[in-house]
Amino acid sequence: MILIIHGGAGKITNFKKRQKIIAKVCKIGYEVLKNNGSALDAVERAVVELENNPNFNAGTGATLSLEGKVELDAAIMSDDLQSGAVACIKEVKNPILVARKVMEETDHIILSGEGAVRFARFMGFPKYNPLTQERKKVFEQRIEKLKAGNPPKAFPNLKKFVGKYSKDFNLSDEKLGTVGACAIDRKGKLASATSTGGMFMHLPGRVGDTPIIGAGTYAQTSGAISCTGHGECIIKLCLAKVTCDAMKSMKAQEAVNLALKLSDQHNCKCGLIGVDGKGNVGFGFNTPQMLWGYIKSDALTVG
Ligand code: ASP
Repeated sequence: MILIIHGGAGKITNFKKRQKIIAKVCKIGYEVLKNNGSALDAVERAVVELENNPNFNAGTGATLSLEGKVELDAAIMSDDLQSGAVACIKEVKNPILVARKVMEETDHIILSGEGAVRFARFMGFPKYNPLTQERKKVFEQRIEKLKAGNPPKAFPNLKKFVGKYSKDFNLSDEKLGTVGACAIDRKGKLASATSTGGMFMHLPGRVGDTPIIGAGTYAQTSGAISCTGHGECIIKLCLAKVTCDAMKSMKAQEAVNLALKLSDQHNCKCGLIGVDGKGNVGFGFNTPQMLWGYIKSDALTVG
């Protein structure tokens, strides 16, 4: 049994504090596996914990769009290719739980925007405001900075939209991470899950790699992967699927290394975690840092 999680890649502030949370969540998720829970239940549990923690860019405390709204993406998948996702969903506490409902209750894979919100309400998820005072404060501090120019490196075209969408802009450069989890359970079944508020300052309606099956999240019998980083380039490379395919002939770590080589060739700043079908973990990043942690055979490792 293995549970591996990430708390985002990039330049991470308050690294030590967040690392402690990662360790705690690893234990919570792993407990599910120990109690004979499925890999799917374990990754869901870990991601819910991280969504509920305002120190991460997912669920409560997620970053804001250019318009100052929280828009959330999440996906969950098991190795039998069952998958569900929500894109650009608003006002829910745990997008990963809604993604699981999409997988189990509908004939679809991804629900987005208004439709995703309506589905969530239909399934009984109450209205919830994920915006925290801390996020709001950072948001307000950065408005002036954006107005003065200088879009983030990832979104150079944003200049064109400054002042055209609304008077408020999110220019947070406090780095909070997307979250993800991959697991293999007692029966050897694999699953992965990822959840995010997206990249700061994204245009309203933007969908990143996280809910795109095969891009930010994927699971099949050879392996399960959850990605974090620059969503646009992760989508172009179909990074999660490429890495899972590589695990057909190599261990998780070698496959992740290969994926990072590919990412480097395309200047794609990202991080990945994964497990292969034989019970090996893999993780890596080409960003300054990534929060990660895993428990394998009851032993915890964090970095
Ligand atoms: N991959 C996420 C996105 O592009 C962001 C992140 O992982 O930090 O939406």
